[in-house]
Amino acid sequence: MQPIPFQPLQSWQDELREAITDPHALLTQLDLPMSLLPGAQAGDALFKLRVPYPYLSRIEKGNPNDPLLRQILPLQQETLTPPGYSQDPLEEQQANPLPGLIHKYTHRVLLILSGACAINCRYCFRRHFDYQDNQLGRNEWQAILAYLAAHPEVEEVIFSGGDPLATPDSRLERLIKDLEQIPHLQRLRIHTRLPVVIPSRVTPALIQLLAETRLQSVMVLHINHANEIDLSVTAAMQGLRQAQITLLNQSVLLRGVNDNVTVQKTLSKTLFDAGILPYYLFLFDPVAGASHFDLTEAEARQLMADLQAQLPGYLVPRLAVEIPGKPSKTLLAPMHYTRNHLE
Ligand code: SF4
Repeated sequence: MQPIPFQPLQSWQDELREAITDPHALLTQLDLPMSLLPGAQAGDALFKLRVPYPYLSRIEKGNPNDPLLRQILPLQQETLTPPGYSQDPLEEQQANPLPGLIHKYTHRVLLILSGACAINCRYCFRRHFDYQDNQLGRNEWQAILAYLAAHPEVEEVIFSGGDPLATPDSRLERLIKDLEQIPHLQRLRIHTRLPVVIPSRVTPALIQLLAETRLQSVMVLHINHANEIDLSVTAAMQGLRQAQITLLNQSVLLRGVNDNVTVQKTLSKTLFDAGILPYYLFLFDPVAGASHFDLTEAEARQLMADLQAQLPGYLVPRLAVEIPGKPSKTLLAPMHYTRNHLE
């Protein structure tokens, strides 16, 4: 079936500006009971509610357990911080040699292009990140270029955030042109949720920019549930694919959102239909304020075993966890099969 051409009514900047940030307005829009309001306000005071309309429109009205709602609705539980949950679970501040640059792995660096996000995901491991101290002004950018030039082992630059696509196309173009001048850089990766949350962010200018750069372009989307992919997202992905941009997905395993095999299976198949390959499924990073999303490692590995039994290998994401100080992500094997399990 041919996707219906997506014609945004508003620019992505308008959609960003008009995002819902008031818990009362959110509950009203979604026909949810006002009994949720005190908890939503308590959570909002710690980490602001933010959800734009294109994403909101995919949430089922009147359903407090909607898997997309659970990702954005602030809750009273966010005021709890059990032992083992911290503000910087990945210890990124240890690998932050310059403002805006995180160098954890030898051959790639992560650049914090923007502290802004289109949506505030309640489980975000950077919900406490100090974006104020990591702003990229002209001087910081020049220092980053000098750092990259002096590190020939770095082959790949990852635009991250916040959401790096909160940066306007004209600025992205200038930054990419600067990076192209550093001969040892080969790839540009963009970690983003914006094309899912506001599909009109995939502008013709952005597609052209990524298609024309000499750097190989990879976009890693962040989608946790199949309901996040509607026709407008599919159409945006089609534009990127036509420009030969590799599309991967990484998701986070979240209790009450995607912690069962049926949901994961549907997610993988829907991603593939949209031209996106499942890449990573991350264990939740133990960030303060979001412990209610956590699953045990055993639960995650059992889920992967069940998923592996139901999908071809190329649709099974790699279960991974990020352990501070390790030279790469740590892959977790699915729970061991017994002979009975295979029969
Ligand atoms: S879009 Fe990404 S960086 Fe922004 S809040 Fe969500 S998970 Fe965090």
